[in-house]
Amino acid sequence: MNLKPRYAVFGNPVAHSKSPQIHQEFAKQEGADIDYGRICADIGGFAEAAARFFAEGGQGANVTLPFKVDAYNWVDEHSERALAAGAVNTVIPLGGGRFLGDNTDGVGMVQDILKAQNVGIAGRNILIIGAGGAVRGVVPVLQDEKPAGIVIANRTPEKARELAGRFGVQTALLSELPADGFDIIINASSGGLSGELPDIAPEVFGKCLLAYDMVYGKEAEPFLRFARASGAVQTADGLGMLVGQAAFSYQLWRGFAPDIVPVIRTIKEL
Ligand code: NDP
Repeated sequence: MNLKPRYAVFGNPVAHSKSPQIHQEFAKQEGADIDYGRICADIGGFAEAAARFFAEGGQGANVTLPFKVDAYNWVDEHSERALAAGAVNTVIPLGGGRFLGDNTDGVGMVQDILKAQNVGIAGRNILIIGAGGAVRGVVPVLQDEKPAGIVIANRTPEKARELAGRFGVQTALLSELPADGFDIIINASSGGLSGELPDIAPEVFGKCLLAYDMVYGKEAEPFLRFARASGAVQTADGLGMLVGQAAFSYQLWRGFAPDIVPVIRTIKEL
């Protein structure tokens, strides 16, 4: 019989997920012995797979693409962050067969920027490229850090306008972004996954302290290389965000707050 507390990440595909290694690093820090697996649910089969996992004693779950909205619809209660994002990446059992959904992507990214990249957000001008689900999760958390301003620009401008309206931030066309206008530039477009760079002028990076790509690994490299060549002082991929969101999930399940900095280093070397 498996007596270790059981956790898992649900996705499809999920074989590539680094979450098991990340959570085992956190468990080492805590001095705990946990079981953390990957569950590849069928498309449209999240609810059934999640119900089975928790019925068999699962104590917490992470949710990745394409199930974050399915998880949002499956849980019984939502944190404010999950409501803002309209998506759930962390499921916490409440007892009595009820579940809370949270979204730790935004706090994960902000902790990475503040603690691992050592870049302050207060008083900074921030550009976000992209207007998908991840942006909905990160904007309210960035706003909590009191930046001077946030501008959202996206390939499909209507989506940027919709999000900007929802959060009370600015929007601009990718082709009309001001030169030297931003301290922090976040690429939240998934274009890098198909090798595409956002269609912006190099001058936009003129005053950029940190260029950040939510994608991690070699897919982030073209954007980060472009940013450095255009003047960005510092660049980072989304690995720290991945570790950061995982750390908040771990804390929600176990009440232990892992230190993300050494874990980012370890996971980068895998
Ligand atoms: P969505 O699919 O919801 O949104 C994708 C966004 O990328 C849209 O704004 C879309 O623009 C834009 N886009 C896609 N292809 C292109 C292209 N070829 N050129 C320009 N823009 C493009 O994705 P998410 O918001 O959920 O995620 C965004 C990225 O962040 C993903 O790559 C995801 O892997 C990553 N991510 C990383 C996390 C981490 O922990 N590191 C956590 C969460 C997300 P349009 O509206 O015009 O279609």
